[in-house]
Amino acid sequence: MRYFPLFLDLRGRLVVVVGGGTVAERKVELLAASGARLLVVAPRLTAALAAAARRGRLEHRARRFEAADVDGARLVVAATGDPGVNRAVAGAAEAQGVVVNVVDDVELSSGIVPAIVDRSPLLIAVSTAGTAPALARRVRAQIEAALDESLGRVATFAAAWRTRIKAALTDLDRRRRFYDWLLEGPAAELIRQARLPVAERVVAAELERQRGAVAARPPRGSGSVALVGAGPGDPGLLTLAALRALQGADVVLHDRLVSGAVLALARRDAQLVEVGKSAGGHRVAQRRINELMVLHARAGRRVVRLKGGDPLVFARGGEELEHLRRAGISFEVVPGITAALACAAYAGIPLTHRDHSGSLRLVTAHCRESIDATDWQSLAAGRETLAVYMGVAALPQLCAALLRHGRSAATPVALVENGSRPEQRVVVGSLGDIEAQAARHAVRSPALLIIGEVAALARTLHWFGEAPAGAFPQGASRSAA
Ligand code: SAH
Repeated sequence: MRYFPLFLDLRGRLVVVVGGGTVAERKVELLAASGARLLVVAPRLTAALAAAARRGRLEHRARRFEAADVDGARLVVAATGDPGVNRAVAGAAEAQGVVVNVVDDVELSSGIVPAIVDRSPLLIAVSTAGTAPALARRVRAQIEAALDESLGRVATFAAAWRTRIKAALTDLDRRRRFYDWLLEGPAAELIRQARLPVAERVVAAELERQRGAVAARPPRGSGSVALVGAGPGDPGLLTLAALRALQGADVVLHDRLVSGAVLALARRDAQLVEVGKSAGGHRVAQRRINELMVLHARAGRRVVRLKGGDPLVFARGGEELEHLRRAGISFEVVPGITAALACAAYAGIPLTHRDHSGSLRLVTAHCRESIDATDWQSLAAGRETLAVYMGVAALPQLCAALLRHGRSAATPVALVENGSRPEQRVVVGSLGDIEAQAARHAVRSPALLIIGEVAALARTLHWFGEAPAGAFPQGASRSAA
């Protein structure tokens, strides 16, 4: 072990930073979070450091470094970029036995500053002994992603209960098990869901139950369901909350549309179950999905119900939540990037645009019923952008209905197939000819239809995959492209 890890209590202690440039500024920002008393020695300061000095956040000595500046310091940081000055600072600190960190100079430093993940009171420090800062940054990013934001809140909550827990559970083993339950079980979930009063009640009840327990029984398990949006396919478009849910899952019930790359992020020993709905078998499949969620949750498992895009956009997520509520199963919802947002972004189509469209409608043309029930009059009127889900099969009826109700045949249209995935294709045309274009290019599901003047911007703003195939009508959409 080349360096000994140690967390310093710097509240109210003197920390001397030598240097007043941007590097010093970053160090000062970090050190300020520790509550240290800051002295900055430098002839000149950046605007931000000068402002901090004016506000009394730090003391500024506006001159070059002198050895006596380190007197009484707990820690000295040299951030001048001048090797001669840095060496003088290191020498002065060393002479007084004060820990010194010289930025980007391990040789001159007696202490090095780790990369940190801050979930205070939980703090994780990563060091490669100064040999591979890029690696330290990567490890840090991985830890950032793995430890969700709410962990600090959970730790603070646990700290507030510490005395009570200690008094109630004198047996060390039992206490440890209780903490495991507290940090991972339903209480932590409630804290994450910002339901503190309920969390308090749950913890109090469990503590009471554990105290009364004759033998140290394992805490009661309680399953739950997270309804999670997997996004359009690219795992980079998952939210951190979705990743956390996947990594904590015992069972993942996923749709067919969810990509393999996303499923690969689930906890290694999680049970993956495809519950895709084949055409025709919808109603049966939905009932089965509802049953499975309840079954697994009642068995104490953490269930992730994973859906493509967003779970509450054309995904029957609402019905699944209603079912869970009726069954008394607790749940949370993690939104995902819905196809309209992903396809538009990856095709270079701004869904709203000051010059072309001020509103967006998400519609579906899934089947006969949904087509008949649609208010075409209002869809065809105006210039709003339409994002049509599940519209490939019904494309002829869809275009015909919009034309019949007065939307111009020259309205630009883009079909985005497999949006955001490596195999993405974009086919463009107009309301009058997109049907022919789709047939010519054999567009298949999953594909999203974007109708409106904004679609023409794909011609100039495309950036992902191949350039759009097909062509916009001459003249009609020039203004938008
Ligand atoms: N809940 C999903 C929608 C499910 S309906 C969401 O929020 O995105 C399924 C339809 O979504 C498909 O028929 C298609 O129109 C659209 N879709 C989903 N993923 C897509 C993708 N990667 N590219 C294009 N369209 C997609």
